[in-house]
Amino acid sequence: MQLIDGKKLSETIKEEIADEVGLIKKQDGKVPHLAAVLVGDDPASQAYVRNKVRSCDQVGFESTLIKKDSSITQEELLEIVEDLNSNDDIDGFIVQLPLPKHIDESLVTLKIDPTKDVDGFHPINFGRMAQGLPSYLPATPYGILQMLERYKIETSGMHCVVIGRSNIVGTPISILLSRKASPGNCTVTITHSRTRDLSSEVSRADIIIAAIGIPHFVTADMVKEGAVVIDVGINRMEDETRKRGYRLVGDVDFDQVAPRCSFITPVPGGVGPMTVTSLMLNTLKASRREIYG
Ligand code: NAD
Repeated sequence: MQLIDGKKLSETIKEEIADEVGLIKKQDGKVPHLAAVLVGDDPASQAYVRNKVRSCDQVGFESTLIKKDSSITQEELLEIVEDLNSNDDIDGFIVQLPLPKHIDESLVTLKIDPTKDVDGFHPINFGRMAQGLPSYLPATPYGILQMLERYKIETSGMHCVVIGRSNIVGTPISILLSRKASPGNCTVTITHSRTRDLSSEVSRADIIIAAIGIPHFVTADMVKEGAVVIDVGINRMEDETRKRGYRLVGDVDFDQVAPRCSFITPVPGGVGPMTVTSLMLNTLKASRREIYG
């Protein structure tokens, strides 16, 4: 079994990005600039945004953090989006989800200029992705593709079972891995909460991608010997031995499953760091006008 070390790989990619930024600076070019909008005080969202800002510092990007109270109105938030759309200094931006209940998330996503949508959530980017056109790929699926590519994991002709059908992970990674591309060319089965006999579907997989949000959902009996397992889940599990009272676990029962795998990602230190790094890659593309010219 080989561990797919997302932490190490993300550091390598960040070093590559930092080198690119070094070259841009040498040529007196404009350093990529990412803005993040954070609404409310959800601790997980705060941690994610902190991480994104820290990564910008690490690679030499400029970053702007716009923090707003959860009482912000939808109109006020849409105005911020409009300002960011028209601010030429900002190459790309994200609005951290989830948003408070009184704000329509899909409306906010729709208002983001697709050329600055470095999260890749706008339907235009999603549609372009589905048709294989240049687009900002959603960060988590993009991170998974990087892992498969850099670890030279064969995907062509493989049977991939994706568990979960969210718009940000399950659905896009299913599309990407089924496309005629490398990584790609998989036969993909997408499974979800209404799938009958999910366990037997998963047990036929050469590649399993778990994005459900249920700790240790994937157990050893569901995993074929030699399978590749990508664990997207990030779940808090009570743990009194930890100072903060919990530890992070994935959707896969790592200890039991790992011995059966050819490759597996750990949690933490797997898909998570790759997601943030993919956002940096998208921001670099935005600053170079690589997708939309
Ligand atoms: P979500 O909550 O939007 O969707 C969960 C999906 O799982 C749904 O499609 C649902 O049909 C499916 N599901 C739920 N219960 C099921 C069951 N019993 N059997 C089969 N399918 C079931 O999920 P999401 O936003 O894709 O997140 C999934 C997990 O991944 C969460 O733990 C989240 O924290 C984590 N996540 C991690 C990263 C990262 O960077 N590592 C990024 C995004 C999400």
